[in-house]
Amino acid sequence: MSIVVSDQQEQTTRESNVFSDDAFRKRIATVDEQGKRKWVYPQNPKGAYHRARAVVAGFLVILFFSGPWITINGHPLLLMNLMERRFAILGVPFWPQDAIYLAIAFICMVVFLLLFTVVWGRLWCGWACPQTIFLEMVFRKIEYLFEGGPAKQRRLKTKKWNREKLLRKGGKWTAFFIVSFAVANTFLAYFVGTEGFLDRVSLDPRHHTADFIGVIGFTAFFYFIFAWFREQACTLLCPYARLQGVLLDNDSVAVTYDFTRGEERMAARKSKNYADAGDCIDCFSCVKVCPTGIDIRDGIQLECVNCTACMDACDSVMDKYNRPRGLIRYASHNMVKDGSKFRFTPRVIGYMIIFAALLIVFSALLLTRSDVDTTILRTPGQLYQEADEGATIQNLFNLKALNKTYDAMPLYLELIEPQGGEIQIVGTDLHINAEGILEQAFFVKLPRDILDPLKTKILIEVSNGDKVLETVKTTFLGPASP
Ligand code: SF4
Ligand code: SF4
Repeated sequence: MSIVVSDQQEQTTRESNVFSDDAFRKRIATVDEQGKRKWVYPQNPKGAYHRARAVVAGFLVILFFSGPWITINGHPLLLMNLMERRFAILGVPFWPQDAIYLAIAFICMVVFLLLFTVVWGRLWCGWACPQTIFLEMVFRKIEYLFEGGPAKQRRLKTKKWNREKLLRKGGKWTAFFIVSFAVANTFLAYFVGTEGFLDRVSLDPRHHTADFIGVIGFTAFFYFIFAWFREQACTLLCPYARLQGVLLDNDSVAVTYDFTRGEERMAARKSKNYADAGDCIDCFSCVKVCPTGIDIRDGIQLECVNCTACMDACDSVMDKYNRPRGLIRYASHNMVKDGSKFRFTPRVIGYMIIFAALLIVFSALLLTRSDVDTTILRTPGQLYQEADEGATIQNLFNLKALNKTYDAMPLYLELIEPQGGEIQIVGTDLHINAEGILEQAFFVKLPRDILDPLKTKILIEVSNGDKVLETVKTTFLGPASP
């Protein structure tokens, strides 16, 4: 008797073979049944994806270390001086008064990350996250250099302390410390600027104890994260990783095992004598290279940082067996299951619309951002004064201006409304220093006959001679019945 199995039934069977045993979902791959940490010894990945990632990582690491020293028109690429409340992004200075821009930029970034994650899963984690880049492309490479591959690392761990072990471990730990120290110092340079950084470096640490302790503390933190905590940071600490369960769906593209092509695994065929073996030969190459210790063939898991190591490993196996590459590839669950192409789901379109709207708002705000932040208030405790035998009424105002640019400039005040009045500066002409704050008193004088009872609305234009910086509305106080 022969049993006819439809394509769909067969596919469902294949899918359930992969996902039915969900023991791997009950605990993370790096923790054993007793709850103890299982140390991961991944193989050094090789292949096209790894080479591409190495190029991207190299660029980003160089950018990170050189960032504080890169200037645009003489101004820092990125400065986050929290103590002095001075910030710069792409050479443009920002102030605490610009919090609205930073808030909207942050919201844009979050929405972009949501959109990006819904479409592309954890692409960020694999290609651009500093944790993955430093761990896999810097610290792990140092480890391979000093201790060799996974087998050698295991042997070295169990070996008694001798000269070789001391040199290998000592060399690795020293290199780890140097990189951690360099990372901590680079962060300091981002926070205090290069001038502040060079000042501190040239001084005895006793003259800047807090900074020195901060750098040592950060060095210890980075050392701990990269030398010991490692992939646990991605699995247990990173909030972005925890969001994956909410953000990813069956249409999200991620590093995915093609179970329709891979199952039944060849090893299973040997034992069960299946006629139609899949392409997976159950060689575990994809598992051996995984830095988070998982088997991607179990499906998308919390631990997977989309590092592509398993894709490279499987591609090289497929090459050897003359099978097409891409048994593990960037694809969504639905793309694998139905053989369909990527599609824009209503959820993705929704995020795109929100992101586009936010970008428009952000761009409009940036384009209309004033170089000078001005506040004009009537001097407290002052009413109006009469001049010219009562024909003119004058109010004393206080101007507070913050120059958000790196250039000093003159300031001019002009009374736009109502017409017929004038502004008289108390003291010299107005001039504001680069990144400076100017406080100045001035009078507004209005003819009595154009005043409204009690309060008259006035409009003052602030300019630097070339362009209007701001137009400020305020009120002018006069007699109850002018
Ligand atoms: S590397 Fe490819 S062939 Fe080998 S076990 Fe993994 S999926 Fe199967
Ligand atoms: S499953 Fe593959 S992509 Fe995911 S972390 Fe492991 S090796 Fe990297």
